[in-house]
Amino acid sequence: MNVQISRQLHPVSPAGARALVRIVIVGHVDHGKSTLIGRLLHEVEGLPDGKLDALKAVSARRGMPFEWSFLLDALQTERDQGITIDTSQIRLRTPARDIVLIDAPGHAEFLRNMITGAAQADAAVLIVDATEGVRDQTRRHGYLLHLLGVRQVMVVINKMDRVAFDAGKFREIETEIAAQLAGLGLTPSAIIPISARNGDGVARHTSSTAWYRGPTVLAALDAFVPARPPHDLATRLPVQAVYKFDDRRIIAGRVASGRIRVGDDVLIMPAGKPACIKSIEAWPERETSQTPRVAIAGQSVGITLDRDIFVERGDVVCASTSPAASARRLRARVFWLHQRPLAVGGHITVRIGTAESTAVVAAIEEAVDPGLLASDGAEVIAQNHVGEIELALSRPIAIDPYTADPNTGRIVLEFEGRIAGGGLILTAQAAALDTTSGPRPGKVASTARASRTGVNSDELRAKASALAQVFASLSPAERIAHLRREVAGKIVFTTSFGLEDQVILHLLSERTDDIAVVTLDTGRLFPETYALWAQTERRYGVRIRALHPRHGDLETLVERDGINGFYDSRAARLACCTVRKVEPLERALAGARGWIAGLRAEQSAHRQDMALVTAEAERGLIKLNPLFDWTREELLAFVSSNDLPVNSLHAQGFASIGCAPCTRAIAPDEPERAGRWWWEEESKKECGLHSHRP
Ligand code: SF4
Repeated sequence: MNVQISRQLHPVSPAGARALVRIVIVGHVDHGKSTLIGRLLHEVEGLPDGKLDALKAVSARRGMPFEWSFLLDALQTERDQGITIDTSQIRLRTPARDIVLIDAPGHAEFLRNMITGAAQADAAVLIVDATEGVRDQTRRHGYLLHLLGVRQVMVVINKMDRVAFDAGKFREIETEIAAQLAGLGLTPSAIIPISARNGDGVARHTSSTAWYRGPTVLAALDAFVPARPPHDLATRLPVQAVYKFDDRRIIAGRVASGRIRVGDDVLIMPAGKPACIKSIEAWPERETSQTPRVAIAGQSVGITLDRDIFVERGDVVCASTSPAASARRLRARVFWLHQRPLAVGGHITVRIGTAESTAVVAAIEEAVDPGLLASDGAEVIAQNHVGEIELALSRPIAIDPYTADPNTGRIVLEFEGRIAGGGLILTAQAAALDTTSGPRPGKVASTARASRTGVNSDELRAKASALAQVFASLSPAERIAHLRREVAGKIVFTTSFGLEDQVILHLLSERTDDIAVVTLDTGRLFPETYALWAQTERRYGVRIRALHPRHGDLETLVERDGINGFYDSRAARLACCTVRKVEPLERALAGARGWIAGLRAEQSAHRQDMALVTAEAERGLIKLNPLFDWTREELLAFVSSNDLPVNSLHAQGFASIGCAPCTRAIAPDEPERAGRWWWEEESKKECGLHSHRP
């Protein structure tokens, strides 16, 4: 479908004054998408003159009630007759926004278009039928938005007229859809009861939904935040060619983002060579006074630099203050088109802008069948399927994550000389870090042994060392941000809902990048901890994945040692912790390249020997304890000033809270972790999660 409604009914504002938002509409075909679109076009007076009256007259002649969806059908017919219109991209003007509504008829095609850059959505409207409630389809549509990284979502519960505008029914669906979306990391900006057919809740509230206090659909559309225009982003000029012209070397390319100005300091990435823009060339050559001084995103230019440095096709001229990463490894979400599945170890060619590198597929996670819109658990990505992959590049390339710059955050994959897929770059891993020695403001510990993950332990240690130097002077939030930038691949935050964990989760909630949040549910937690878990998920709109002990291991343990055997011997206690915590932790960290935990040095004498940053060579990852140097006072102050949800047991004298049978309250003069395994000697209190046992 392709419809263009070009009529302008609102006053035309100066160029650039009205923001453009691209919104994808997802929902089952029978849930009223066409009706809502037809109704919206009518409400914003976006229909061609006389169209509505003509359709109403036709319906009356045929003895049929008028349906808003006829509008789209009629517009589609006109297009089929070669007249106007594109019904997959419908433009309308709300009071504050220019909006492009993108219909998503086929998931596979839409996913491919989004991932390869043919289509782009800044926000989404998810339609649910009030008579049917949340179905598997709805869950799949939420998954689609999650895959595409669309963070702004409005949910409309349509056909409320068919359930007699029942507030209870609405609340039931609202709760269910909010929970479903929370599990995918999505928090709807609004959940709106409407009748698209009758107009209730679309442009105005009616007495039918007097019990509802939120925005109308139009108001919620107006509240969507548009994507930043390319010229507002950091400067990126991918080099297409370098020409020798008389005594000048002219660097040619199209400004992908930001703007290039004569006199700007730039870095040529991936090598990181500094230079200054000397001129922007013009053809035919003009008087010096008329040569351009600035070029913005979208313009093709030739520039010269103030110094003679080697620049080649594939390099990217970047703002010196915010350069692209120079990456040897990257993680991407890709759509695979080739009939031969993409597998770990496969060799492909990667193109990013004008750069090219051969690459090896280092890891595949979350292969998804777009038809089912669910992870298929496969370790290969089949034709027309989607997956997250980690690529090891044969040479460094300048890249940006897609979330930082959609213009330079895409990759094209080639296989056997043909385009075989495309994708969005999720994260980049720097090609090299400055590991020169200097004062050691942060400690670095290593638990390196022979790596079983294929990660070079020397490189890992060097990286941890470099990060520790940088992290020492950063805030916890900056440490997390820096870790995300520097570590390509999965990063996992493990929470046990302690005060430290709640602070870290709060910091993560202020970021949009993907860090998995998991908890280890030993099955012996306090009821208060489970309550806090649910409260935390509600507050942040996230689902915290739980890893449980393996059934068989648990049965063997309890059969052998009894349900509370941990009181009897240290060996039984360690066995219990291994089955209930340590083994699930290993599953949580499988394939991860980064691990965030809530350790603080002050917690115990043993923890003072730990570190802010650790190279865990055996697990092939970098571990960060972002609050490592925080005092308990700093912790409590942050919790209080941000009104964080905390375990109600703290008010009863519990400090560090683990499993119920192994935790007691402490006296005011006791150390923080005195209540954990209180029957054990102080030096034997770790359980193996954060320290390898002697
Ligand atoms: Fe078992 Fe206690 Fe360890 Fe929990 S803390 S896993 S109950 S020994």
